[in-house]
Amino acid sequence: MVSSARKLELVGKALDRLSPLETACTLCPRDCRTDRTKGSGGICHTGSLAAVSHALLHFGEEPVISGAAGSGTIFFTGCNLKCLFCQNYQLSWQLEGHTVTDRELATMMLGLREKGAHNINFVSPSHIVLPILRALRIALAEGLDIPLVWNSNGYDSVEVVRELEGIIDVYLPDLKYRSPELSKRHSAAPDYFDKASEAVREMSLQQPALDLGPGGTARKGLVVRHLILPGAVEDTLELLDWIGENLSPFIGLSLMSQYHPCFKAPAEIQRSVSPEEYRRAAGKAAALGLDRLVLQPEPFGADEHLVPDFKKDSPFRWK
Ligand code: SF4
Repeated sequence: MVSSARKLELVGKALDRLSPLETACTLCPRDCRTDRTKGSGGICHTGSLAAVSHALLHFGEEPVISGAAGSGTIFFTGCNLKCLFCQNYQLSWQLEGHTVTDRELATMMLGLREKGAHNINFVSPSHIVLPILRALRIALAEGLDIPLVWNSNGYDSVEVVRELEGIIDVYLPDLKYRSPELSKRHSAAPDYFDKASEAVREMSLQQPALDLGPGGTARKGLVVRHLILPGAVEDTLELLDWIGENLSPFIGLSLMSQYHPCFKAPAEIQRSVSPEEYRRAAGKAAALGLDRLVLQPEPFGADEHLVPDFKKDSPFRWK
């Protein structure tokens, strides 16, 4: 892992380069060009400061992320992608959470470390990159020394990801869709694959090998997540082909069967993924021969405990 002192230097440089983008925001591929110093006018509905719903130890991430002690997870409010079927719609669409200062965000990170978290896991960080970096400037100086996890929807700006080199230890992006028609229909982002594939390729260049510590949690690396959508397994297979052809073979891949129709999911995805669909995808994923493949076990499909309720103090049933 890169030392905290070196990370501090890199955070300063990243802030110098990225902060000017805030006044005509191009911090993600949406390119809203809104002035976030004057309020929250962009698609992410976020101004200069972060808003946070929960900061907790998460035991439901992949074993290499949660480990035995839990992942120190910070759930940010708002999202730059906003999928119609989002299971975290209370955060992404309904903006559950409250605004925090950079100091408060840093204190959350340090508090999770104190609780024994294996890492700090930033959930939906793409539109929060500046508050995260400003808070890291405080937290790293005050002893934050555990791996930092970038847990994004994949719709990241490649320019931003380049600035995160040496700061982020573990990339945990989604790769949601291959087809522009699907990404347009479900996320109003026809360029999703073009942008996400560019960003994830950069993540793979920075972190080409998953490196696990003694307890089996990731110290650095890349784990790509893909949620199979019902009726869209052909898209999944194409995406898996792309992963096999374009990313390092030493990354992790998490293939998820947990899709459950939430929020405004369109009619054609108002069901769970079938066992047949999941097995086709899992067979293809296994054939890629990646370093680490995480498969969700049967029973397939809706597993209610995986759908959190962020209106509660403890959004997950296991905690
Ligand atoms: S970060 Fe937010 S305001 Fe900036 S381009 Fe993306 S969606 Fe728009």
